[in-house]
Amino acid sequence: MRIEGAGGCFDDRIYDLDRGIAWNIVLLSVNEMGVTVDEVDEARFIIKFHNKDKIMQVAVQPIDDEAVHVIMDSTKERLQIYSWKKETKEVELFYDLFENKLREFRAFILCPQCGEKISSLAKFCPECGAKIK
Ligand SMILES: [Zn+2]
Repeated sequence: MRIEGAGGCFDDRIYDLDRGIAWNIVLLSVNEMGVTVDEVDEARFIIKFHNKDKIMQVAVQPIDDEAVHVIMDSTKERLQIYSWKKETKEVELFYDLFENKLREFRAFILCPQCGEKISSLAKFCPECGAKIK
């Protein structure tokens, strides 16, 4: 569910993912956004960060054992009351990064011989050399 407001944007998306895995992908994605991280709350799965004009946070909330909400909130440091400009750039960037990484993550399989996580495109396991399918 996306809500756009004066100078900010809130988005909440649901993924079929373990919370720990979702959290790791969130951290990797935020790392690539070119923002400054202010606080990483490992206990509550919340990361707070900012760039030159926005304050943002992402939270990973469990729905059940297999699904999570990934919530991102972005607000301008100073509200521009009379501006109708969309302020969704950072939110879109974050979910693009997150969903790309998720696709990469899901493109992995486990080697049937050694159990190593390897690319689903690999013909041979780089770890043990087993031929894949
Ligand atoms: Zn292997």
